[in-house]
Amino acid sequence: MQAKSDIVTFKKINRMGCLTGVSTRKFGSIKSKGEILQSNLNRFLKTYSLDPVKAVFMNQVHGKKVVYVSNNKKIVLKTDGIFTNKKNLILCVVTADCMPLIFYSPTKKITGVVHAGYKGLLEGIIQEMLLKFKSHHIEAEDICVGIGPCIGDCCYDVPKERVNAFTGKYSYPNIYQDKGGKYFLDLKKIGLSILLENGVKKKNIEVLPFCTRCNVSNFYSYRADNKQTFGEFVTFIAVK
Ligand SMILES: [Zn+2]
Repeated sequence: MQAKSDIVTFKKINRMGCLTGVSTRKFGSIKSKGEILQSNLNRFLKTYSLDPVKAVFMNQVHGKKVVYVSNNKKIVLKTDGIFTNKKNLILCVVTADCMPLIFYSPTKKITGVVHAGYKGLLEGIIQEMLLKFKSHHIEAEDICVGIGPCIGDCCYDVPKERVNAFTGKYSYPNIYQDKGGKYFLDLKKIGLSILLENGVKKKNIEVLPFCTRCNVSNFYSYRADNKQTFGEFVTFIAVK
């Protein structure tokens, strides 16, 4: 499916009282070599009337560490998940094929973002974020989760060892396809299955349908871009 407009957002989750968005290629790359590309970020957040000073990013390392943030420290080091109960913060995750997730408790107004590549999914970063919410007395059934654009099973061919790692850890059905000896892994289905297994309700999950590699004209894709064209797009959540 192609992204039709410049505004890509989690409509269902927005209706629960927060603001979400995914930057498209039109705004340019949001982060490069660990540095935030401030003018691109500013232009993007301006379309939401948000103050870029309130944005918090992570220095993502494909791990499972989740950190609580309470101020607008610009970049949280060596972490792949952040969450907050501070209403003025804009939590940001950048990706280009990996899976971005947003988390939201409508009752407690707690927000979170996660960067989940295959390593993070194997290590359990999603489960870690749910545990952090639980430690703030929010049960999984009260959490809304959005899964943003990432590489789809149409395009994500991986070595058999990677498939084995997932089938060894998780017993979810149909998380990969064998197309004549080529293996295609379904990150979204794995993410969705982890959420459901851990108590998040299906009606509270919103999955954006875009594959980054198929939609490289709208997003960025590690696999489809080259050195010159590569960048990263941002997925954010903020409380209104
Ligand atoms: Zn694709």
